[in-house]
Amino acid sequence: MRKIAIIGSGVVGLVAAHGLLKAGHQVTLYSDRTPEQWLQSKPTGSAARFELSLQLERELGLNHWDEQLPWGEGAHLTVCPTPRNRLLTLTGRTSRPFQGVDVRLQSHRWMNDLVARGGRIEIESVTVQRLEEISAAHDLTLVAAGRAELCRLFERDAARSVYDAPQRQLAMVFMRGVKMRFDGLPIVPVKFNVFPEAGEIFYMPYFHKDVGPSWSALVEARPGGPFDRFRDAKSGEEVVERMKGVFREFLPWDADWFQSAELSDPQGWLVGAVTPTVRRPVGRLPSGREVMALGDTAMSLDPIGGQGANNGYKQVRTLLEAVAEHGDRPFDAAWMTATFERFYARHGLATYTFNNLLLEPITAAARELLMAQYGSDGRADNRSAIQRLADAFTENFNDPATLTPVVQDSRRTRDFIAKTTGGAWLKAVARGGLHVARGQFLQKFGRDPRHPPQAV
Ligand SMILES: Cc1cc2nc3c(=O)[nH]c(=O)nc-3n(C[C@H](O)[C@H](O)[C@H](O)COP(=O)(O)OP(=O)(O)OC[C@H]3O[C@@H](n4cnc5c(N)ncnc54)[C@H](O)[C@@H]3O)c2cc1C
Repeated sequence: MRKIAIIGSGVVGLVAAHGLLKAGHQVTLYSDRTPEQWLQSKPTGSAARFELSLQLERELGLNHWDEQLPWGEGAHLTVCPTPRNRLLTLTGRTSRPFQGVDVRLQSHRWMNDLVARGGRIEIESVTVQRLEEISAAHDLTLVAAGRAELCRLFERDAARSVYDAPQRQLAMVFMRGVKMRFDGLPIVPVKFNVFPEAGEIFYMPYFHKDVGPSWSALVEARPGGPFDRFRDAKSGEEVVERMKGVFREFLPWDADWFQSAELSDPQGWLVGAVTPTVRRPVGRLPSGREVMALGDTAMSLDPIGGQGANNGYKQVRTLLEAVAEHGDRPFDAAWMTATFERFYARHGLATYTFNNLLLEPITAAARELLMAQYGSDGRADNRSAIQRLADAFTENFNDPATLTPVVQDSRRTRDFIAKTTGGAWLKAVARGGLHVARGQFLQKFGRDPRHPPQAV
């Protein structure tokens, strides 16, 4: 049994704490908020989690809300070159459903669970000086403090970090008062609308701490662009009202659905920005002691791909393996680096690359894939090749290592399209292109583009 300290009671710190406790270690979690304070806090994010993460929660007995929450079944993507112009859609299913649970509710419950299962919790805001004492008293100290001050202990990895500034301005709300389904869509999706000049808007089913089944919505604004109108919002109500304006101007097809939205709770909103950053996993304290970064402290991602928490869980999975293999040997800097590198090779690099692809203009290869899948409707009985392409795209959110390397390379993408459709890639892309052209023609004359699942 090893003595392990974790700083931070966000979802990643807590999943690590439960995993290590279950493995028989003595775990102390340091949190700057009590479970009750979590319920009154602002959320740190919205954290949709996909199957690989949910498996870990189930193994650790943390999946308390499975019977009550609105499961997501896949993704509905709309690409819009200009406002009100739907170029194409994709409706893909994930192999297993996903979920978003209010992170405040999770941290509240999982802290209480940790104590009930024999873990210790200390309520304090840990300083660097205090970290010296904590690390001196433990075999391993993990810093899962999110993007707060303590993450400065971990040097930015300049070779891996592509950006040195935020790529989007974010505005997020938890909202109630809207329908749980969309007319004509066979799945409950995360809806993802892409406007190359302005940014992205997405909304997904959510289990809110007070309201229960409801939605969360996120605007990802390109700095200085037409969505960048939330920075000075003073309340969640204001964010909801401004979002209603964005819906009416840019995506009128969902404006009626969104019109009745109300803020779920006074704290249920965020505005801000994240600089996507990979940090070195080892932080050296003034005394020379070493501590290890976990979750957002190790890698901060823009939420565009819904990857931050999922990536943190994947890091925890590797950490649990590496701790188990290490026996009684010291957790030194070499072990911390090797553990992070193992995770980064398996998941971290693919996740970071995929997330960054979503921040950048669409690649030629991804455009071909989207054309080739045109016609996907997300119906459970749709076994067609185009549906399989859309499903593969959607599944990549669960495990970015599956399709990300393919869509980075035109030749591999074309091979993938040909293999999946059982025919020439060009034929598949041209077929989709014809439908897209027809949709553009219809919209030019003020008509509905008739994108699936309505009609192909
Ligand atoms: C708008 C938005 C939407 C998102 N959507 C998704 C999504 O759909 N899917 C997904 O996977 N990810 C998503 N994310 C990212 C996700 O929310 C984060 O990756 C995840 O919450 C990180 O968890 P964490 O435990 O590493 O850090 P945090 O959740 O930031 O928790 C860190 C905790 O440490 C505490 N702390 C900090 N400093 C100290 C200290 N000195 N002493 C004691 N405690 C301290 C903080 O108070 C906090 O409670 C989203 C993020 C945002 C902003």
